[in-house]
Amino acid sequence: MSEARARRVGIMGGTFDPIHYGHLVAAEEAREAFRLDKIIFVPAGTPPHKVERQVTPARHRYLMTLLAIMGNPGFEASRVDLDRGRVTYTVDTLQDLRKGLPDTDMYFITGADAILEILSWKAPKEVLSLAEFIAVTRPGYGLDQLATALGPLYEPFQDRIHILEMPPMGISSTDLRRRLAEGRSIRYLLPEAVATYIQREGLYGTNDQGHLP
Ligand code: NAP
Repeated sequence: MSEARARRVGIMGGTFDPIHYGHLVAAEEAREAFRLDKIIFVPAGTPPHKVERQVTPARHRYLMTLLAIMGNPGFEASRVDLDRGRVTYTVDTLQDLRKGLPDTDMYFITGADAILEILSWKAPKEVLSLAEFIAVTRPGYGLDQLATALGPLYEPFQDRIHILEMPPMGISSTDLRRRLAEGRSIRYLLPEAVATYIQREGLYGTNDQGHLP
């Protein structure tokens, strides 16, 4: 008789300003590659490292996330970071999610660039103990710098950090914000429901353009 394995849940952490097909494809790839039972998208509240940039209000980023994942029964979204107050830290995110996910292996999925900064995060040791990490990166861009980036935490935690190589899709939230501000097309880069929401709410300067993104 085969032993029951622990439930495995992916926690897709990001600012999602806005969410796009790159994020959705990465989540689906991670779900398959790591045999995750589901993925919970967690839009960050006010990310600690972004206090200097005007981040779109969390309620918009959460609603865009809900619209983007609609129709995929393996995807959910959580308000856990939105409801916490101003600045949010991943250690708090994981602790809060853990309460609703007993006996579950958590896998925190995010961009490799973000993971390389992990030593500067709040309570990095605890963060790495609470979840395994899936670093989304382009092929050939491994985490060579991981040993340096993790310093003393590399030895005990290196086995808990996994790489997920994704073919480059050329989509980024930064590029989407720029395109929207310039009145350029964003068609085929993010779900149509998200594009319609952006237009309806006048996000990213679309009010000024009077155009359909
Ligand atoms: P970021 O610095 O804006 O993003 C770094 C790179 O990763 C960008 O290329 C970004 O592309 C990509 N990316 C972001 N989220 C991704 C995802 N889920 N899957 C694939 N690629 C992704 O990173 P961020 O979005 O602000 O933060 C990432 C996560 O780390 C968040 O959950 C945040 O709360 C956490 N974090 C925590 C701390 C802390 O606890 N002190 C500090 C920093 C970050 P796009 O711009 O196209 O998304």
